[in-house]
Amino acid sequence: MQGLMQSYPLTVRMIIERMESHFAHKRVTTLRGGEKRITSYGQLIDRVRKLSAALRNQRLKPGDFVSTLMWNCQEHLETYLAVPAMGGVVHTINARVQPAAITFMLAETRPRMIIADLTLLDTLLKATLPDSVETVLVVGTQEDAPMPAVPGQKASWLSFEDFLASTDIACSWPDLDENSACGACYTSGTTGKMKGVLYSHRSTVLHAMAMMNVDGIALSEHDVCMTVVPMFHAHGWGFPHGSCLSGASQALSVRQADPETLADLIEDAGVTIATAVPTVWINMLEKIRSGEIPPKKLASLRRLPIGGAAVSADLMNGFADLGITVQHCWGMTEVSPLGLVSTRRSGVSDTEWSQLRLRQGISLAGCEMRVMNDKGARVPSDGFSGGELQMRGPWVADSYFDPDKPGHRGGDDKFETDMEGRRWLKTGDIATIDEHGYVKIVDRDKDLIKSGGEWISSLDLESALSEHPAVHEVAVVAIPDAVWQERPLAYVALSNNWCGPSPDFASYLEPRFPRWQIPERFIVLGELPKGATGKINKMRLRQLSCASAESISRSPDRKT
Ligand code: AMP
Repeated sequence: MQGLMQSYPLTVRMIIERMESHFAHKRVTTLRGGEKRITSYGQLIDRVRKLSAALRNQRLKPGDFVSTLMWNCQEHLETYLAVPAMGGVVHTINARVQPAAITFMLAETRPRMIIADLTLLDTLLKATLPDSVETVLVVGTQEDAPMPAVPGQKASWLSFEDFLASTDIACSWPDLDENSACGACYTSGTTGKMKGVLYSHRSTVLHAMAMMNVDGIALSEHDVCMTVVPMFHAHGWGFPHGSCLSGASQALSVRQADPETLADLIEDAGVTIATAVPTVWINMLEKIRSGEIPPKKLASLRRLPIGGAAVSADLMNGFADLGITVQHCWGMTEVSPLGLVSTRRSGVSDTEWSQLRLRQGISLAGCEMRVMNDKGARVPSDGFSGGELQMRGPWVADSYFDPDKPGHRGGDDKFETDMEGRRWLKTGDIATIDEHGYVKIVDRDKDLIKSGGEWISSLDLESALSEHPAVHEVAVVAIPDAVWQERPLAYVALSNNWCGPSPDFASYLEPRFPRWQIPERFIVLGELPKGATGKINKMRLRQLSCASAESISRSPDRKT
C-alpha cells in the first residue's frame, strides 16, 4: 500500500519561492575590486525572474546546458537559480583548468549559452567553443562600455545586464521532474580526462536541507554565509543553495581571497559562517598572529566549515582562541559535495574530542558510508583497519556523465553494486572508521595531488616528464605542505644514455603547465622502488618524501 502523502517535487523553484516569501529582506553583498554591491533577496528574485524570462525568449529547453566561467558573485547566484528553474543545467567551469580541459568539457556538454566574467574572457577564448553556443553573456562590464570585440566567433556576445534588460516580462517557472538534471560540475580524472557529475533538482534540495541539520553545518537564517570556495567547485560546496533555502544572508568576494579582503568583508557584512579550503584560513591565521589583521575584524564569525583537505590541530586551536569553531568536513564533487562532518557526538569526552575533531567526521544524516578492504569486506570499526571509503545516498552520484553512453551513464568502474543491488561510489580515499563512526582519511588511492584545493594530475606530470630525453623512469607523489596541504614532488631515474648537463625539469614543464602545478623539487634516484608486479611503488616514495618533506623553498603562485 502506498502512503497517502503529497508527491511534492523537490526542485530549485522551491528554494526560490521560499526566498521570496520568507527572506526577501535578506541580503547578498558582493565585493568586486573594492566596490561593494548589496542586493536584497527580494531584488535578487526579481532579477532571477527577468533572467528566466530572457532564457525562455532564447527558447532554452529542459536539459539544455548553460556553462558559467565566473568567480563568486551575485550574477553567478542568479544563474544558479534561474537556469535550473527554467529546466536548464548550470555547468560551472573551473576557471583554473587548462584551455584544453575547458574545450573538452564544452564539447561534452554542448551548451547553448556561456556566461563568463569579463576577467575570464581570455581564458574562455583560449578554448574552442562548440557550434552549439548561440550566446555568450559577459558579467562585470561597465555600463555603456562597448562589448569586447571577439573575432571569429559565431555566437552573439552581449552583457549580462543587457540580456536582463531585454525583457521585463514576469516569468512563471515550469513544473519539473525533481530527478531532472539541474547542475553539472567536472572533477579531475586521474588520467587528466575530467569526469562530469550531473546533479539533480532533488539531490540539490536534499543537500541544501542537509546543510541545515543542527548536528552538522547548522546553516540557518541567523547566519551570514561567506562562500569563499569558488562557486565552480561543486556549486560552492552547496553553501549558496543552502543559504538561499535556510534564509542566511550571503557575502561574496569576486576573485579575491586574500586575508585582508576577506577580513574586511567579514567585518562589513557581519559574516557568521565562512567556508574555504585550509590554505585560506592558514593564511588568515598567520596575518592575525602577526598582528597585521586585528582579531576584532572577525568578531561576528562563529563557524568555519573547512574541507577539501585535512585540517590541522593548530588551525582549529588558532581559531578556537578567537571563539571560532572549525567544523572539519569531508566532501567530494560526486557527493554534492558534503558527506562527512566532524561534530561532537553525545558521550564523547573532552579528551576524546580533542583527537576526534581532527578526523573527517561522521556521515551526514541521509548519507551512508562504508570502508571496504581489498577483499571486498567491510573493515572493523576499530579506528585502525584501513580500506576504501565508499558512499551512497540521495546526493551521491550514481554514474558519471558520458554523452556517448545510453542514458548518458559512464564511469562504471568508479561505482560498485552490492549483493542487495545498492549502488556505492568508490571515493578513492583510504580511510579508517572507529567505534563512534568517525572516519579518518589516511591516504588516497588515486594519482592526484590536491594543492590549495585544486587538483594536479601526477599522471599528466609523469607523462610530460617521461618525454624528456634524460628520463628513464619518473613518479610524481604528493608531499605534505604547511600552507598548500600538498605539493607535487617528482622522483626521477635518469637514463643511462644521458650524458648532458643536469636537466632543468621545472623549465621543461613550464610551457605545458601552469606554474602552480609544477613541482618545486625533483629528486634523482638511481632506480625507483618497485612493487611485486614491477609497478613503481608510490606508497614507498610517499614514505620517503614524508621523511624529507620539510623544505619547500619556492611558494607556488595561483596564476594559470
Ligand atoms: P573534490 O572532488 O575536488 O571536491 O575533491 C574531493 C577529494 O578531496 C576527496 O576525495 C579527498 O581526497 C579530498 N578531501 C576532501 N575533504 C578532505 C578532508 N577533510 N581531509 C582530507 N581529504 C579531503
